[in-house]
Amino acid sequence: MKYSDLVEVYEKIESTSKRLEKTFYISELLKKTNEEDISTIILLLRGQLYPDWDKRKIGVASKLVLKAINTASGAGISRIEQLWKEIGDLGLVSEEVIGTKSQATLFSTSLSVAKVFSNLRKLNDMEGMGSVDRKTQLIAELLSSAKPKEAKYIIRTVLEDLRVGIGDGALRDSIVWAYLPIEVNYDPEKISIDVDREEFNKVVGLVQSAYDKSNDFATVALAAIKGEKELGNINLVPGNPIKVMLAQKVATMDEGFEKVGVPAVLEYKYDGFRVQIHKFNNQIKILTRRLEDVTGQFPEVAKYVLKNVEGKNFIIDCEAVGYDPKTKKYMVFQHISQRIRRKYNIEELAKKLPVELNVFDVLYYDGETMLNKTLEERRILLEKIIKEDEFKIILSKKIVTSDKAEATAFYNESVKKGNEGVMLKNLKAPYKPGSRAGSWIKLKSYMDTLDLVVVGAEWGEGKRSGWLTSFTLACVNENGEFLEIGKVGTGVKEKPEEGLSFGELTELLKPHFKQEKGREVTIKPEIVLEIQFEEIQASPTYSSGYALRFPRVKTLRDDRSPDDACTLERIQEEFYKQKKS
Ligand code: ATP
Repeated sequence: MKYSDLVEVYEKIESTSKRLEKTFYISELLKKTNEEDISTIILLLRGQLYPDWDKRKIGVASKLVLKAINTASGAGISRIEQLWKEIGDLGLVSEEVIGTKSQATLFSTSLSVAKVFSNLRKLNDMEGMGSVDRKTQLIAELLSSAKPKEAKYIIRTVLEDLRVGIGDGALRDSIVWAYLPIEVNYDPEKISIDVDREEFNKVVGLVQSAYDKSNDFATVALAAIKGEKELGNINLVPGNPIKVMLAQKVATMDEGFEKVGVPAVLEYKYDGFRVQIHKFNNQIKILTRRLEDVTGQFPEVAKYVLKNVEGKNFIIDCEAVGYDPKTKKYMVFQHISQRIRRKYNIEELAKKLPVELNVFDVLYYDGETMLNKTLEERRILLEKIIKEDEFKIILSKKIVTSDKAEATAFYNESVKKGNEGVMLKNLKAPYKPGSRAGSWIKLKSYMDTLDLVVVGAEWGEGKRSGWLTSFTLACVNENGEFLEIGKVGTGVKEKPEEGLSFGELTELLKPHFKQEKGREVTIKPEIVLEIQFEEIQASPTYSSGYALRFPRVKTLRDDRSPDDACTLERIQEEFYKQKKS
């Protein structure tokens, strides 16, 4: 397929915020895509080079991109830099300079999606001496054959900043529209569809379930072409990260019971960080909530799992909780978060800040997916395969009850032990990856916080110059777009020994700078902060339509990816809840 066909679709998708319209454009593209190009198209549509479970990044700096544009267009670096300052987007800059380059070199060959994909993939594989020059050449080669609009999207993809706004829902539904034998009549005037709802929901459920297990839309699309049976054959693969199941929030025990039904499972809600642990080929892989591989950072955990969990291949879901090795008191997340990032002196830090693994679920066991088994059955399996060893690996503390008084006593006991509250879970529910379905509920003892993404910042002045001191926060909408919701500076410390400091945060954000204008910096959404606040207010100032009253940084959430950030939907819900109360 020609790259220009994909670019045409990017343009259409970018021009609308309506999910149905986006779905229509994508499905039309998929229908005319040859089978050998499907994986590539599915990935490139969202600016990806790897499936969702594969966290490799392109990691090319803006400087290198400037050089590539210069090599391909002949435009001087200073002119390109000037345009970048004016326009603020290297994609648009390359569109402009490629559009004005000399006619002689114009469009010598037409670019294929396969060629674009192949060059971009090579960028990631390259390291060491001479790699900068070779990377520049790979990008420049694409730009030399690109039409202006193509150049814009190549550069945005290289910089991992495609921004056309395709959420999981739109991609999933386009696979249904394109490949499954169901009649979907799309009305472009009304932007609505006419379908047999029951049949449609069934097929969507099938595709969603295949995606839940593979975490890869390309695999799903290729199976969908072959039909429903092939979709049903998709299974979890130990070693391939899978999205974890999430919980809804309630304010009272009654509400919790109402949502999950009785009898309900109640478990301590530990204040650590989520880890998904895979065993395959006699090897352990430990992943955070953002599906980042942290096996190397937690050698002791890998040892406990190998020793205390029976089985050849499995995927278990756990919360790792830090404790003080002397007093054996549990510590809140902030204290152990440094273990996630630490790349040196790991053994030493493991002794200073050990973690206990609290296992609460099993997704796969010795060749069999456990997702569709009930929680009750999964727990029975866990109890069989795990040999508990306190302060190393234990099962989450739980009760099964229909009695509110018993549940409340359990909640009080949990909070007294320093936990966040309790989880209420439906005894008969399956495990739904990536879903915030109502079968898991959290009931917390204190005011809730929001996980928000930093998308901008401002350099400080006076004794704070050299640090970023004000951070623009954003939530994420259903199209995966980041919408601003306010600024925060409070809560970040001047002295590193007091907690997350301006210096540390500045260093973490620097590699993700998109552009600087005076004191303002725009930043690629990468870093997630946990924010306390007093109230959510409606606000025309920010693109989300909301603002936070008295926001304060609680901690850095380096176990969370920007896609895990608080959704606009949740902000809206909280806002209406507040209004009601
Ligand atoms: P929170 O900030 O409250 O942790 P979240 O958005 O990170 O919310 P939720 O799915 O809403 O995640 O809340 C569940 C989280 O609580 C899990 O991701 C997990 O890290 C943690 N947790 C602690 N104990 C348990 C448990 N027994 N069962 C499931 N999750 C638990």
